[in-house]
Amino acid sequence: MSMENVIIIGSGPAAHTAAIYTARAKLNPLMFEGFMAGGVAAGGQLTMTTDIENYPGFPKGISGYELMNNMREQSLKFGTRIVTKTVDRVDLSNSQELKVYVQSECYTTRSIIIATGATARRLRVEGEDTYWQKGISACAVCDGGLPIFRQHPVAVIGGGDSAIEEAIYMTKFASKVYLVHRRDKLRASKVMEDKMLANDKIEPLWNKVVVRACGDKLLSSIVLKDVISGEESNLEVAGMFYAVGHTPNSNFLENQVLTDSQGYILTPHLPSTQTSVRGVFVAGDVSNRNYRQAIVAAGSGCKAACDVEKYLQEV
Ligand code: FAD
Ligand code: NDP
Repeated sequence: MSMENVIIIGSGPAAHTAAIYTARAKLNPLMFEGFMAGGVAAGGQLTMTTDIENYPGFPKGISGYELMNNMREQSLKFGTRIVTKTVDRVDLSNSQELKVYVQSECYTTRSIIIATGATARRLRVEGEDTYWQKGISACAVCDGGLPIFRQHPVAVIGGGDSAIEEAIYMTKFASKVYLVHRRDKLRASKVMEDKMLANDKIEPLWNKVVVRACGDKLLSSIVLKDVISGEESNLEVAGMFYAVGHTPNSNFLENQVLTDSQGYILTPHLPSTQTSVRGVFVAGDVSNRNYRQAIVAAGSGCKAACDVEKYLQEV
């Protein structure tokens, strides 16, 4: 069994940036890009969206799929070996010989970059699959500017800071924004709550959950249920934006690295991207709950690659 220099787990912007940098540093990286890991195709979350308008370098925008394909091509160009398999588990007990398990195979490595991303939670309501990306989205900042939402009412689901942020963001495009929350108290911070209350375009709908998405080719309404009375009502909206949290894809690590209470991987030796385990580094959304954007993920992939290069020179 040969010892790898670095194994990269994941295939979003963080993983591919780490691959490009480690490959150019002649570390001969091995990447496991996943096979529908966490329900997301290899290439990561951007493969689930249409146009990316905020990734620098593409003034006309670029489709998420194409952007990720380009990154993959660039990783391959510099010699990254890419395997379309999902990592099932790891053994980090010996930092001189870290182990990565893929089905029945075991790979040993001197370092690992974890870049497995996060999965936006979906509610799995009736009609969701039909209208996903046809009115339903989990990212207002990404999709909110599309013509289908302009000057139409939309709903944002959730009561956290993300929901408020998305609701405020959507007031730029929509004629009205309903904030649908399952309780009558927000989880969001007071400052965000005040911002929402000060905005005439946002109407909170308390104690309501979504039960159904309806429409023809595009979403045109949602059915809400009042959790106290049980009564159902129809709400006409062209858009429904989920802001019900994200789940970091860190379960496969089985608590071998330190995470916060939600599973986001911690980096205790800042500014280094090293995790609580020597030789194990992290990049992208799996360690970042606040700035979930592709450019941030790519930047942290670069940092992790630089940290790995330095680490391997020192050990
Ligand atoms: P991800 O993109 O999440 O990729 C991680 C990859 O790792 C996935 O392919 C996953 O399958 C794989 N993986 C997971 N577990 C394993 C495992 N055990 N083994 C192997 N592989 C595994 N950001 C922007 O900047 N602009 C936008 O316009 C934009 N639009 C978005 C639209 C949508 C619908 C969503 C959901 C997000 C959007 N974002 C956008 C956010 C952006 O996609 C993320 O911030 C970014 O993709 C995070 O990159 P990442 O590399 O951390 O991981
Ligand atoms: P949160 O976990 O804070 O909030 C998720 C919200 O979704 C909650 O209101 C929750 O309801 C609701 N929810 C969860 N599951 C369901 C469900 N099945 N049906 C209906 N509603 C549901 O996630 P966020 O993404 O909002 O925030 C994550 C972290 O990022 C937080 O720490 C936040 O402070 C931070 N953040 C900070 C920002 C800022 O400072 N500007 C901006 C964005 C995020 P309930 O409240 O009832 O549990």
